[in-house]
Amino acid sequence: MPVLSPIDGSCLTVMARGTAQDSARAIAGTRRAFDDGRWSGLAPSQRKAILLTWADMIDAHALELAVLGVRDNGTEIGMALKAEPGSAAATIRYYAEALDKIYGEIAPTAPGALGLVHKAPVGVVGAIVPWNFPLMIGAWKLGPALAAGCTVVLKPAETASLSLLWLAELGLQAGLPPGVLNVVCGEGAVVGAAIAESRDVDVLVFTGSGATGRRLLQASAQSNLKRVYLELGGKSPNIVFADAPDLDEAVAVSAAGIFRNSGQVCIAGSRLLVERSIHDAFVEKLKARAEAMVVGDPLDPATQAGAINSEQQLARNLAFIDEARAAGRDIVCGGTRILAETGGYYMAPTIVTGVAQSDRIVQDEVFGPVVTVQAFDTEEEAIALANGTEFGLAAGLWTSNLSRAHRMIGRLRAGVVHVNTYGGADMTVPLGGVGQSGNGHDKSLHAFDKFLDLKTAWIKL
Ligand code: NAD
Repeated sequence: MPVLSPIDGSCLTVMARGTAQDSARAIAGTRRAFDDGRWSGLAPSQRKAILLTWADMIDAHALELAVLGVRDNGTEIGMALKAEPGSAAATIRYYAEALDKIYGEIAPTAPGALGLVHKAPVGVVGAIVPWNFPLMIGAWKLGPALAAGCTVVLKPAETASLSLLWLAELGLQAGLPPGVLNVVCGEGAVVGAAIAESRDVDVLVFTGSGATGRRLLQASAQSNLKRVYLELGGKSPNIVFADAPDLDEAVAVSAAGIFRNSGQVCIAGSRLLVERSIHDAFVEKLKARAEAMVVGDPLDPATQAGAINSEQQLARNLAFIDEARAAGRDIVCGGTRILAETGGYYMAPTIVTGVAQSDRIVQDEVFGPVVTVQAFDTEEEAIALANGTEFGLAAGLWTSNLSRAHRMIGRLRAGVVHVNTYGGADMTVPLGGVGQSGNGHDKSLHAFDKFLDLKTAWIKL
């Protein structure tokens, strides 16, 4: 299948369009690699050494991996360098270092019996990932799965496969036994569906849209009841009170929180809720930031927001704006395709005000550089607006009032609440959503739980 670069619409290369047969062969190979113990049967220190070597190799090839990924998916290089190979290496290293610190349990049984609780690798993992941060999100799945002793069949997104293919190649060079990690490229409805429907896959980990997440749950129900962990979209509220410690910083960080990577970030703060007394001034400052943002060639280090991943995604983003405009909403800035002469897919950072909570642009994830701004008068109203969608991935909160911050952390329906910042959490904390943002968590030691089964041995003494 042709690989189009969102930078200029040119054909970068062609890649294999995996068939159902290719997927079946890859899954069967991944199954064999688990069942014969070539990976789970190694000493933990051996698995650890291989994974650490892999992480070092990713670091050593960081620039090439980042550039390859940027040409494929359009993320600005500054962000890609940090969030892609840098994050992937750090993730694999984190789980490699943790894997020989996982202990089972001896249960407090009555005399005469010994209860042992083993933690055993679940088996074959199917990992299906999206295009926005292929290496980072890929590593969030691969790191804990491989460290736990599972084998993995990985399906990258159609429009962001190249850097993951190279990441896997580096894994092989680092010493991952053949078959432990298989990558199958191709269409979601073919390759992804084959993985989801397979009886040889024990657990499915997914990041992507809710529509696909639903299909995966159905496929699990209709096949072998494999466990399914979904990291889905968001419509994350970013709430600014008049007592924010530094309003200029709140503006700057909020702008970055929605416009970096052209809004193609699952936790993007796409709904700003601003206390009415500062609303107008805040919108003015945000507009100045949005208009000053350097949007363009993602390979230029000065670029702050790169390309939209595909022409289809750009059209989807613009359709949201057309609908808002037709409903009489105020497009404060942006709302248009820009740099069309490059042949690439770029969109101006966009602010929309005067919206109703029921508007599609408030309820549905755009996944583009588009933020709505709503005013609120009370804490109660802010919470009602913030919790007023079906999603629950992330939230932001800007206030100097410690009591209010804790009260609201408790009441906001979100997997992560950022206080006086937005984004940037490190590997030590989990990331996952509630409601239609999914279940299960990436990152932190909790991610191991998806890949380790509890197995009891009950021994009569
Ligand atoms: P998508 O669901 O269309 O695709 C994601 C992956 O699923 C791709 O690899 C795709 O090929 C595959 N897929 C598509 N149809 C499939 C099917 N029928 N069966 C099996 N696999 C299939 O999503 P996308 O457009 O690539 O990604 C954007 C979405 O991902 C957004 O909604 C975004 O919020 C979400 N996302 C969530 C997180 C998170 O951590 N929660 C992170 C990044 C992105």
